[in-house]
Amino acid sequence: MKALVYHGPGNKAWEDVPDPTIIDPTDVVVKVETTTICGTDLHILKGDVPAVTDGRILGHEGVGTITEVGAAVTTLKVGDRVIISCISACGSCSYCHQGLYAHCLADEGASGIGWIFGHLIDGTQAEYVRVPFADNSLYKVPEGVSDDAAVMLSDILPTGFEIGVRYGKVEPGDVVAVVGAGPVGLAAIMTAGLYGAARVIAIDLDDNRLEMAKAFGATDGVNSGSPDFVETVKAMTDGLGVDVAIEAVGIPATFDTCLKLVRPGGSVANVGVHGKAVELPLQDLWIQDIAITMGLVSTSTTSMLLKLVAQKKLPAEKFATHRFTFDQMLEAYDTFGRAAETKALKVVIS
Ligand code: NAD
Ligand code: ZN
Repeated sequence: MKALVYHGPGNKAWEDVPDPTIIDPTDVVVKVETTTICGTDLHILKGDVPAVTDGRILGHEGVGTITEVGAAVTTLKVGDRVIISCISACGSCSYCHQGLYAHCLADEGASGIGWIFGHLIDGTQAEYVRVPFADNSLYKVPEGVSDDAAVMLSDILPTGFEIGVRYGKVEPGDVVAVVGAGPVGLAAIMTAGLYGAARVIAIDLDDNRLEMAKAFGATDGVNSGSPDFVETVKAMTDGLGVDVAIEAVGIPATFDTCLKLVRPGGSVANVGVHGKAVELPLQDLWIQDIAITMGLVSTSTTSMLLKLVAQKKLPAEKFATHRFTFDQMLEAYDTFGRAAETKALKVVIS
C-alpha cells in the first residue's frame, strides 16, 4: 500500500510500504477512505517530537471501512464504516474506566502520535491502518453522517469540547473567550454553545480566522494584534473579565492573555501544547481564585458528539475547506502548511 512516511526532520514521502496485518486478537485493519492533517503532524515533521522515528507512518484522524477483524473483537465486523479515534485504548483498565483513555495502562497510545505513551503505532495517512483495541477505539458511523463530518470526530471536536469547554466548566450564560481560532479553537467555539454560553469571543491574529469563528458560533471576534485588545474584551464584560478563557494556541503569550482576560473566580482551560515553559504568577492567581485546567484529549465524548453530528446539531463538516486525493498527499501538506495564505482549515484527503 501507499502511506505518508516520516523520514526525519523535514523529510516525508508518499511511498510503498507493507500492508498492515492483525497482530493482536483485539486489532482490526481499516481501509482508510478519508483522512486529514493536524498541526501535530507538522510538529512531528519539524522534528519537535524526537520519539517519532524514521519510518513511522503519520496521521491520527480517519474514517474508513473494516477489512479484517481480530478473533477477540466483539462489536465490529468486516464492512463496518468507522471513525478512527486519535487515541486507541483498552477500555478496561482503571484509567479507561474513568474515561481517561489517553492514560490507558495498556500503553498502545495514539495512532501516529503514540510517542506520548511509549509504544509507537502507525498512523492513518495511509491506504490501510491497523487499529489496536478496536472495540474501544473505533466508532461506527451512522447513516447520513458524511466522511467530512465524521473525520472531525477523530481528534479536533473531542479536543475542543473535552479539554476546552468541559474542563473549563462552561455554564449557561457564561462569557467565554477562545484564544486561537484554529481548528481546535473553532471546535471549542462550536461546542461552547452546548452548555449555553451566552457570548463566545474569538481572539486571533488572523482576521480570516476571526471571520471563520463567527461562522462557527462566535458572537465576537477580536484581533490580538491590536495593542488594546485586552481592554476591548474586558469592555464586553463590563470590565469584569470573562468567566472562562480557553487557550488554543500553545505559546506563553496566549496563555498569558487568558490570565489577563479571566475574571476572579473564573477558569482558564489550557488546550494548547506548550513546547516552551509557561511562567505561572501563582500569587496573583491565588488571590483571584483562578482555576487552571489542562489535559490531553481522551476522546471519551466521541459517541455523544457523534449523536449530535448525526442529528445535525453540530455542523462538523464545516471544518473541511480543501480537498485532495490520496495521491495528492504532499500537495495537501503544502496547502495545510501554508494555512495563512491558503486559508485552509482542515484539508480532507479521500
Ligand atoms: P493552529 O496552529 O491551526 O491554530 C492556532 C491559531 O492560533 C491560528 O488561527 C493562529 O492564527 C492563532 N494564533 C497564533 N498565535 C497567536 C497569538 N499570539 N494570538 C492569538 N492567536 C494566535 O492549531 P490547532 O490545530 O487549532 O491547535 C491548537 C493547539 O491545540 C495546538 O497547540 C495543538 O498542538 C493543541 N492540541 C491539543 C490537544 C490536546 O489534547 N490538548 C489536541 C490537539 C491539538
Ligand atoms: Zn485502558
